[in-house]
Amino acid sequence: MRIGIGYDIHRTCAGDHIWLGGVKVTAPFSLEGHSDADVLLHAITDAVLGALAQEDIGHHFPPSDEKNRKRKSSDFLKFAIERMREAKYKIANVDCNVICERPRIAPLRDKLRTSLATLLQIDLSQVSVKGKTNERADTVGQEGAVICQAVVLLVSHENR
Ligand SMILES: [Zn+2]
Repeated sequence: MRIGIGYDIHRTCAGDHIWLGGVKVTAPFSLEGHSDADVLLHAITDAVLGALAQEDIGHHFPPSDEKNRKRKSSDFLKFAIERMREAKYKIANVDCNVICERPRIAPLRDKLRTSLATLLQIDLSQVSVKGKTNERADTVGQEGAVICQAVVLLVSHENR
């Protein structure tokens, strides 16, 4: 087994939607970023790469590379999943925190889980998404940024 942790933060900017776990979500702001700024997919991608000890998303997809501009973050995740398959691992489960005051995550939870399960090609029961706020404290609490955390457990094909 191997375990990986992922963390990501994006600043908010003027706009009316964000991308979260591959889902377009109405929000009182957008998120800054080189790609589509899907902070949840970035955290999960880093968790998978971290479990494999294969660097991180910025190493494989540098923001300085024009190819990555406006790119869909599902491309980054697919790359990490491909690396995982090459190493003969599969996902046991993924657990995520989305930290923001708005949008409220609870009503979106099942939509986000379904999207992640599809992208990761695993069962819904293997995906957890939890919404937290920062209780209006600090930059995240003042809606200046959104944070995501992810933990992923990989199991070897041989041991399953
Ligand atoms: Zn990011």
